[in-house]
Amino acid sequence: MSLNQLTAHELHDKLKNREITSVELTESVYQRIEEVESKVKGYLTLTEEIALEQANAADKGFQNGDDMPPLAGIPIAIKDVICTKGVRTTCASKILSNFVPPYDATVMQHLHSQGVVMIGKTNMDEFAMGSSTENSAYQITHNPWDLGTIPGGSSGGSAAVVSADTAICSLGSDTGGSIRQPAALCGVVGMKPTYGRISRYGLIAFASSLDQIGPFTKDVTDCALVLNAICGKDEMDSTSVDVPVPDFTQSLVNDVQGLKIGVPKEYFAEGLDEQVADQVQNAIADLEKLGASVEEISLPHTEYAIATYYIIAPAEASANLARYDGVRYGFRTEEQTDLINMYKKTRSKGFGQEVKRRIMLGTFALSAGYQDAYYRKAQKVRTLIKSDFDAAFEKVDVIATPTSPTPAFKIGERTADPLQMYLCDVMTTPASHAGLPGISVPCGFVDSGLPVGLQLLAQPFAEEVLFRVAYTYQQNTEHHLRKPEINSSKG
Ligand code: GLN
Repeated sequence: MSLNQLTAHELHDKLKNREITSVELTESVYQRIEEVESKVKGYLTLTEEIALEQANAADKGFQNGDDMPPLAGIPIAIKDVICTKGVRTTCASKILSNFVPPYDATVMQHLHSQGVVMIGKTNMDEFAMGSSTENSAYQITHNPWDLGTIPGGSSGGSAAVVSADTAICSLGSDTGGSIRQPAALCGVVGMKPTYGRISRYGLIAFASSLDQIGPFTKDVTDCALVLNAICGKDEMDSTSVDVPVPDFTQSLVNDVQGLKIGVPKEYFAEGLDEQVADQVQNAIADLEKLGASVEEISLPHTEYAIATYYIIAPAEASANLARYDGVRYGFRTEEQTDLINMYKKTRSKGFGQEVKRRIMLGTFALSAGYQDAYYRKAQKVRTLIKSDFDAAFEKVDVIATPTSPTPAFKIGERTADPLQMYLCDVMTTPASHAGLPGISVPCGFVDSGLPVGLQLLAQPFAEEVLFRVAYTYQQNTEHHLRKPEINSSKG
């Protein structure tokens, strides 16, 4: 295997033993980018110069025999929704086409203090609104498993580059499923941590009561390493919670004996692809064989999760996106007669169709006379969804479901029908409403060769049990080891 195909923990050992250098590793990643990026199109910006400087710095540390952190010298890709000092951050929107943040997001500060190597910024749905990465104002990312299909979204670039081995790991953001769903569709591990686990300072806001940053990795061990690096209370984000941060690698134990896994019947209903259902059921059966006990549970308000999400998220987005007015930063139209006209034209030209749709939905849901009927009602339903989970976690430790109702679909298949697109989020939005941590791990393939993801959910701040179950599953299965043949002619 070439270096770019290995995991961060495998590479760390080689770096530490001085079998390889970070510069060699970084070059192998850019070599791979040279070979396949024109097909995958996962990156919006490459930062090769910065990367090589960082790799050199890491190599010095290893050469000196310093005690280097686990991610030192490891090539990582960053979703273009996370502010990177001095490096263009577009949110895949025209309105931020020229935005160069003057500061680093807190997660970037954490990663830099570990000495990571930043490979580039990844493609996404504009402002993280979408499930296929087709809403980027710049390019469509292709799923490495079948170039004719979407990689999922909105963090499709971050999932695709890990799957294509053009990064060792990456960061994404998840508001209603944007880490878990693309991880499932691209056959990699993706985790949305508990709401409040990670600072969002420097994460460009979409829906602030839901947004979380999280890792994409090639295996569960790497996921724990990246999470270790980025979580914790931050005074720059008052919603980050001051709870102890465990060393998540301590939870990487191959043992699910005595754990109770709940399988919600509402997630195995109409609309779920049969082959996806089979793979997920097999995975749950595997966990049972490994010593977990499995029982059916009910989360009765699941069916309202999407409707609720598509009120709350657009409502918050309509407020968060009011700041893009062409005045302080970002794109400003050339055609301007007066101030109001300048606002209008800047926003009409700068935002894409889906973003405008969300702003209109959200503005409507918050408007006088409709707020009670829509926004307030949605908040009440959100509480009911959360109480379903609270009740379930009285009985079980972990909930297991499919991550996505279908495998990756064809590019263009759902773009004409927003409702079809919104249905991609049916399995991921409930946990987002409740602020729960969730992980998606590869659990098999459908006949066409596309990967399937198993979603595991736990109580707030119980990521450790997710790591335990996901790690045990990976230690006893091989789905995560399979690599896509990007040269397939299917695309
Ligand atoms: N697909 C969902 C949406 O379009 C979720 C996006 C996300 O999690 N950022 O809003």
